[in-house]
Amino acid sequence: MSVIHYILSENMKTYIGKIHLKWCYNCNLPILGKKCDICNTEALPVKLTPPGDARLGFRYDIDFINECLEREFGAKSIEDGIILLNKLPGNLEAYEVIVDGIVKYILYYNEEKETWKIKLKLHGAYDLIEKGANKRIVKIKNDLLNILKDKSTLLRPGIIEITNDIERGDDVIIVNEDERVVGVGLAMLSSNEIEKIERGKIIKVRFFNKNFQNRKLERYKLEEALNLMIEANNSVIYNYEKNAIGFIKNSYEKIKKPVIVAYSGGKDSLVTLILTLKALKKENVEVIFIDTGLEFPETLKNIEEVENFFNIEIKRLEAENFWEKIKEYGIPSRDYRWCSEVCKLNPLKEYLKDREVLSFVGIRKYESFSRAKKRLIYRNTYIKNQINALPIFHWTALHVWIYILKEGAPYNKLYEKGFDRVGCYICPAMELGEMDRVRKLYPELWEKWENVLKEYANKYKLPEDWIRKGLWRWKKFHPKDIW
Ligand SMILES: [Zn+2]
Repeated sequence: MSVIHYILSENMKTYIGKIHLKWCYNCNLPILGKKCDICNTEALPVKLTPPGDARLGFRYDIDFINECLEREFGAKSIEDGIILLNKLPGNLEAYEVIVDGIVKYILYYNEEKETWKIKLKLHGAYDLIEKGANKRIVKIKNDLLNILKDKSTLLRPGIIEITNDIERGDDVIIVNEDERVVGVGLAMLSSNEIEKIERGKIIKVRFFNKNFQNRKLERYKLEEALNLMIEANNSVIYNYEKNAIGFIKNSYEKIKKPVIVAYSGGKDSLVTLILTLKALKKENVEVIFIDTGLEFPETLKNIEEVENFFNIEIKRLEAENFWEKIKEYGIPSRDYRWCSEVCKLNPLKEYLKDREVLSFVGIRKYESFSRAKKRLIYRNTYIKNQINALPIFHWTALHVWIYILKEGAPYNKLYEKGFDRVGCYICPAMELGEMDRVRKLYPELWEKWENVLKEYANKYKLPEDWIRKGLWRWKKFHPKDIW
């Protein structure tokens, strides 16, 4: 990662807030408070990159990462149980994968190769070898064990043998003559190129430790682990809930306006809804869903499930037809997001035009740098009739997940398919990895969109990358005469 990345992370640390994530290495569970409520021992901090808004991994994520590991290293090393994914800041789609309370891998989308890849940490490499990894392995002479260190370079003469599957830019596992893991690094040359030469730089060593040992922790089946996680975080979640409900009650008494919750089908708005329904009388809360017309089927299904679960009626507001509006406004982009105005904000603005409301919103400061600066109660700048109040502003994604699981509330099943946010199935804010996921899981939805892009690309003679590399997401790559 670049220097800019590092500076960005440092800023995040300063502005967003402390990293809450700790671990009970006794029970092998994530802990958000000071101690584990099961065994009463003090929880220890998990080292992860700020802002540290790690989310819960579902079985899909475990399987997905295991498949990546098997493809690259020949072994599936993650046993069933709790894993967390911590998105790294910046545009690159990359996640620290936390297993047994430690970052073992980084999963990232390689835009050039159009595939998900793995960066290794020593702990992850150790697990892989233990599970029989047989690819991307470099065996080195024991003479080097006292010479190599973090960030050093491995030269050709130090290598005894290598597997024949290494390409330039791949992560490799470095083992000693006894086939114990001693390091991980990045291949500067391919297996073929390495075989042909006798000298020169081969591997950029990232981490090196000749005495490396992994801590072995017991792992539970995922369902059991989730229940234990709820129990281990009981007191901290209880306090978060109490504070949020207090905040909702106070805001309602102070502002004295009719209350709405705009439920989006996402996890944060689900928690906001649960809390609002607990704090206020059901008949005093109006729940609204804005249907952009670009919703995943899971989201629409979830709206019904939520209605049934809480025994409430959710008012659907429909947006103007996106596909028609494209003809008028052109392809939306990150710096030209007419779609969020037309499809998301306008229906609500129209609906609220004759009255003022107090709206409880599931914005969290850990989501982004710009969101971290919000006040807890403020007037919406676009919909002036709406006063926003943010009851879960200080919650992390893990607080949100533990609370949802504890309440047994119906969450959107998209989260069980590798999506870490829920919104329109096409959006210029998406990264290539997300779009790749939509393309694979919902080919018919994706195709409809791609056909629109193709039509534009043909008409204006745009290069292949305009679609393939997602250049349509920025206005500067759009033909001038459209605007
Ligand atoms: Zn414990």
